[in-house]
Amino acid sequence: MPELDVLTYGFSFTSDQGGFGWSTISLVTLGSRHMLIDTGPASRRGLLLQALRSRGLGLEDIDSVILTHLHWDHCQNTDLFRNARILLHPRELDYARNPRRGDLSAAWYIADMLGKMKVEPVSDGDEIDEGLSIIDTPGHTKGHISVLAQVGGEKVLVAGDALPDSGTVKRGKPYNIFWDINDATQSVEKMVAASKVFYPGHDRPFRLDGGQVSYLHGPSTVEFATSNEGGGVTTVSVKVYSQRPVNIDLVQKG
Ligand SMILES: [Zn+2]
Repeated sequence: MPELDVLTYGFSFTSDQGGFGWSTISLVTLGSRHMLIDTGPASRRGLLLQALRSRGLGLEDIDSVILTHLHWDHCQNTDLFRNARILLHPRELDYARNPRRGDLSAAWYIADMLGKMKVEPVSDGDEIDEGLSIIDTPGHTKGHISVLAQVGGEKVLVAGDALPDSGTVKRGKPYNIFWDINDATQSVEKMVAASKVFYPGHDRPFRLDGGQVSYLHGPSTVEFATSNEGGGVTTVSVKVYSQRPVNIDLVQKG
């Protein structure tokens, strides 16, 4: 039976000075073997290494990495895991080389990095280990996948950006759609039918019970730090939207 742990929690902050890309990195443990789901952005590389170290793990202890998709904020640290097999949907590798016009988070250097690694294709229904299977969840990108894990007595869905936050359930679609709006909507329906517990790409894990969201664990406060020792101070103001606008690339599917 897999055990599931979060190495870095996902958040969906954005700012007038660019995005942070703070995505969820999950650790799956099966006996003595360890697997990651996504590897996060370079800005969280130190945090990832520290999270592994604090669990007594080194880079060589990770034998597999599943990538939900190839946006930079979910896979930039994959190069750290040179000995691991890298599991992803073959359509996503193609997408990384030919992303949608409005998708500024996909870059060919990611496909080049993976070209030097042990990539293995996976797709819908593949049972990659005991209690661990892949479901196709396209729409956010062309070859997006999610992972269904049997944890304890129930199914848990590690969703990536097909279901980036708890608001996706109410909205019926993720807040960024670069490949296809119908695929994205169907993927959300498929995920909600498959599980009650979600590990989203940019939010804390939550349980869905009769439409009610309850968060399971992870920090609800983030600390920003700055210094005024040179005399200049930059402060942070926070805007909270009751409804997040959905960003849909105008070029659909082909
Ligand atoms: Zn993404």
